[in-house]
Amino acid sequence: MLHPATELRYVNASIGYGVFATATIPAGTFVWITDDVDIVLQSNHVENLPALIRDDIRKFSYRNKDGSYVLPWDLARYVNHSCDANVRDLGSVGGIAVRDIHVDDEINSEYSTILADPFECHCQSVQCRKIISSQDILDHWECWDGQIKNVLHLVREVPQPILHCIKNDEYHKAIIKTIFGDQTITLPSHKDFL
Ligand SMILES: [Zn+2]
Repeated sequence: MLHPATELRYVNASIGYGVFATATIPAGTFVWITDDVDIVLQSNHVENLPALIRDDIRKFSYRNKDGSYVLPWDLARYVNHSCDANVRDLGSVGGIAVRDIHVDDEINSEYSTILADPFECHCQSVQCRKIISSQDILDHWECWDGQIKNVLHLVREVPQPILHCIKNDEYHKAIIKTIFGDQTITLPSHKDFL
């Protein structure tokens, strides 16, 4: 589920649509979380679908480490990549704003952790890596994990309008309890995607 202070906007012909903030979303806020309504599709199912359906699923979903596709049921599927993403993923549990996101800012995330095939990036960031591939994780996971660590203390201090919608299983609940200091398990790392 995506943070409610967001809306879909047309960006341009090459990018298509993107998701933009309609209110300030403070650093430390969960901007998306995996919920019980997201659609999980096994890879052999997707590969055998007609190309028209298969290509859209590949475009709008992300992949779990087991290869399954997760198709968000809401606008989260339209979040674009940036090489300087303002939301970093906590594994497949959710994504946290690593800096304040202001009204009209585009919400973006890091695609190298979820894509099988490299792609050419035109994100306009001064940090743009031009070609995005899963190998980027090797060079950047510590930096990306560090950005999350820097805002973890804020998670308890800012409004969390979507956290109560987190997927209802023991693992997801344990991660959230750990962030809030009520349990201690190892938090997901970007290097888990290697
Ligand atoms: Zn880029």
